[in-house]
Amino acid sequence: MKNIKDYNLDELKQEFIKLGEKPYRAEQVFKWLYTTNVTTFDEMSNLSLELREKLKNEFSICVYNIIKKQESSDGTKKYLFDILDTNAIETVLMSYHHGYTICVSSQVGCKMGCKFCASTGIQFVRNLTAGEIVEQILAVQRDENIKISNVVFMGIGEPFDNYDNVLNAIKIINNQKGLNIGARHISVSTSGLVPKIYDFANEELQCTLSISLHATTNEKRSAMMPINNKYSIEELMEACKYYISKTNKRISFEYALAKDNNESIEDAKRLVKLLKGMLCHVNLIPINPIDNGKYTKSTNENIMKFRDYLNDNGIVATIRRELGSDIDAACGQLRRKNLK
Ligand code: SAH
Repeated sequence: MKNIKDYNLDELKQEFIKLGEKPYRAEQVFKWLYTTNVTTFDEMSNLSLELREKLKNEFSICVYNIIKKQESSDGTKKYLFDILDTNAIETVLMSYHHGYTICVSSQVGCKMGCKFCASTGIQFVRNLTAGEIVEQILAVQRDENIKISNVVFMGIGEPFDNYDNVLNAIKIINNQKGLNIGARHISVSTSGLVPKIYDFANEELQCTLSISLHATTNEKRSAMMPINNKYSIEELMEACKYYISKTNKRISFEYALAKDNNESIEDAKRLVKLLKGMLCHVNLIPINPIDNGKYTKSTNENIMKFRDYLNDNGIVATIRRELGSDIDAACGQLRRKNLK
C-alpha cells in the first residue's frame, strides 16, 4: 500500500482530487501527520468516518518501532529503527543550547565506499522513500515529546544518490503546514556527486550544503573516497562555486583529520589555496577510527595547528565537537543492520 508520508503537500492534494475529495482535506491530513504527529487515521477527528475509511483503504501510515535506543554520556541519543522490511537504520538526536538537531539516514547502506566510514563494508540494500526519511524525525519527536529544530542529512547513505526522495523529504520537512523547519535549518551532506550539486543549486532552496572534502590532492582524495575517481576536486570546486552563486549560501567543507594522512601544514596550505575567496567554512572532524580501518585520529595538537593555519590565512575553520562517540553515534560510525 502507498505510504501517505511519501507525498509532499502538492502531491497529496492531487491524490485527494483523484479520490474525489477537496484539496483542503489533504491539508488537514498533513497537519495531523506533521503537527499533531498522530499514527492512525482514526485519530484524525475532523475527517468524516467515511473519509477515514477511504483513506485506510488507499494508504498506510509508516510508523517505526524502536528496536534499540542508546544514550551517550553527553546526552546524544542513537535510535535503531525497524523500518518494517527486515532492515534497520540508525538515526541520531543531538541536543544543543539552540535546540535539537537530528541526523537522518537517507539509504539502507551506502554505495560510495569511503575507506574511513563504517557505513562502507555493509552492503547497499535500497533507497529510503521520502516518508521513511521523514518518519525518523516524527518517531523521535513522539518518543522524546520534543520539537526538532534542525535536520542534517548526515546519517547512513549518500543523499544525492537518492536525490528525488531526499528532495521530497526536504519539501515535507520545510513546508509550513508540514514539519515547518526552515531551509536554513536543513543541511545536506554529499561526498561529491557533482551533477546533483548543480541540480540542488537550481532548486534555490537555501539549504546548507556540506561537502565531504577530506583531502586536497586528487591522489589522496581518491585513496580515501572512490567517488573522486569519477568527479575530481577541480570539478567539485566548480560545482560548489555554482551553488554559492545561485544561493548566496556559505558552503561547509568537512575535513576529517587522520594521522600521517591529511593533517600536515602542506595539506593546510593546499586547502587554503583551494578555498581562498570562496564563501565557505571548514569543519574539522577528528576522524573516528573504525574496525579494520587504516586511519587513526590526529592528535589534538595537530588538529589545532591545522585549524590555526587555516584561520590565520583567511579561511574560517572550527573543530567539530565530538558527540556520541561512546555509543558509536559519531560521524562515520553509523551502520545499517539486518533483522533477519
Ligand atoms: N554520504 C554523505 C553523507 C554522510 S555524512 C557524505 O559523504 O557527505 C557523514 C559525514 O561524516 C561525512 O562528512 C563523512 O565523510 C564523515 N565521516 C565518515 N566517516 C567518518 C569517520 N570515520 N570519522 C569522521 N568523519 C567521518
